[in-house]
Amino acid sequence: MGRPQVPIEVDDVTGVWTTDGLPMIYVPRHFFVNNHVAIESALGAETYAKQLYEAGFESAYSWCEHESQTHGLQGVEVFHHYMQRLSQRGWGRFTVQEVDAVSGQARVRVNYSVFVLQLGANAGRKVCYMFTGWFPGALTWASRSLGHALRLRARESQCGADGSRYCVFEVTPET
Ligand SMILES: [Zn+2]
Repeated sequence: MGRPQVPIEVDDVTGVWTTDGLPMIYVPRHFFVNNHVAIESALGAETYAKQLYEAGFESAYSWCEHESQTHGLQGVEVFHHYMQRLSQRGWGRFTVQEVDAVSGQARVRVNYSVFVLQLGANAGRKVCYMFTGWFPGALTWASRSLGHALRLRARESQCGADGSRYCVFEVTPET
């Protein structure tokens, strides 16, 4: 069994968990995904995905800003660090296949996505849209830290739940 590779502290008084100074919440996967599916049912996947994209983009950008100061990281190092932390925290295994903070392009493979594991490989559709905004959010931070002002977008080009063996996310500059 692997041991947690992320630093976790639990406050004796409040019970609040923190990693690198950020408050965290530890929840069962089924609880999280059941909530996700309930919101999707109410809003419709398209509307929900759009809302999540914006929220995820902003959260990833802020996380990168915070972590760059905590660990003294710059540029694309922060993107790699983010993918490593996501992988260590149980969202899936995120493998960077390509990343270029100057051109604003990236390709990330995700195995063992939390959504695919919970909803099954035969869902018949792409189910990991919660992740989509995270990649351009992180890469936008990386490119800005190098002095570039890019507008990026991303999509899940294949998913482990739509008949593919794993998920792939691609980030490209807006045209
Ligand atoms: Zn997927």
